[in-house]
Amino acid sequence: MIYDVIIIGAGPAGLAAGLYASRARLNTLIIEKEKAGGQIVSTDEVANYPGSVENATGPSLIARMEEQAKEFGTETILDTIKEVNLDEKIKVLKGEKGEYQAKTVIIATGANPRLIGCPGEKELTGRGVSYCATCDAAFFEDLEVYVIGGGDTAVEEGMYLTKFARKVTIVHRRDELRAAKSIQEKAFANDKMAFMWDSVVEEIKGDGIVESMVVKNVKTGELTEIVAHEDDGTFGIFPFIGFVPATDLFEGKINMENGYIVTDADMKTNIDGVFAAGDCRVKSLRQVVTATADGAIAAVQAEKYIDFLEGTEYGK
Ligand code: NAP
Repeated sequence: MIYDVIIIGAGPAGLAAGLYASRARLNTLIIEKEKAGGQIVSTDEVANYPGSVENATGPSLIARMEEQAKEFGTETILDTIKEVNLDEKIKVLKGEKGEYQAKTVIIATGANPRLIGCPGEKELTGRGVSYCATCDAAFFEDLEVYVIGGGDTAVEEGMYLTKFARKVTIVHRRDELRAAKSIQEKAFANDKMAFMWDSVVEEIKGDGIVESMVVKNVKTGELTEIVAHEDDGTFGIFPFIGFVPATDLFEGKINMENGYIVTDADMKTNIDGVFAAGDCRVKSLRQVVTATADGAIAAVQAEKYIDFLEGTEYGK
């Protein structure tokens, strides 16, 4: 079967694209590699998505978006796309489970957490190192937690973690936070929050579980080993140091800047019939509200492109 639109990624951008495309009666498939949601499912509180209900969480918002797209006929499948051929009139996507064909493709692959890249990080992920406070905070009930990073995510997630942890220390590489002032003010007023300035993580150690962490002061070069309290045996490490776009699949095939896909205001890439939406593209504000807007625009433009195709010699 040749779909009108295949959307890669089921975060807010992909789900909004699915909603708009299937509402326009285009045969629409969303391919997602794990589960719907993207980064927003790791967020406990979504306070800045206009119209979201009070106490909306990332998972509740995504569940409703998915339901809405499906109500209009969007199909979804779990598969990991390994190879793409986008240059022909019919685009071909090769996944682990099968091959998919479409007249248009909307890339909504988002971005993944940036890793610290220090020894021990990978080995101890899920064993004290976590990239999702909403998912894992409860494991750190009454323990100490270190949050790495100084942006909005680090500070907001750090504050969320204080609901569970005994103490949350923000480890930041500079001596001032990048987070918005309003977020900073709340953090500085929170008794359970502490700050370790000018510091980067050099190594995470532990035998099957985090037991200690080596931190370097970037101004003095001094190394400090933070060791788990004897009674606790472990502590939590939550790196929130930004994101990297999930665009490896399109390297050398689509115009990009620093790994982000370049589009125009209509979400068009440099390849006919291929659009990009959400955090994977070059843009100034990466939020749910801008991701969903991108998805809607991409779907409408995909519809226009198909109309154009079918009115020309390429039409069936
Ligand atoms: P971010 O703004 O890029 O901040 C990343 C933080 O990690 C910065 O403090 C940075 O330090 C630090 N960092 C980067 N690489 C590092 C490394 N290798 N080692 C140690 N530290 C490193 O990322 P974010 O906080 O995830 O936010 C991403 C976007 O989402 C932003 O536009 C943000 O405003 C938005 N956001 C908004 C909200 C909200 O509106 N409520 C909530 C979450 C996120 P430096 O400061 O020294 O560069």
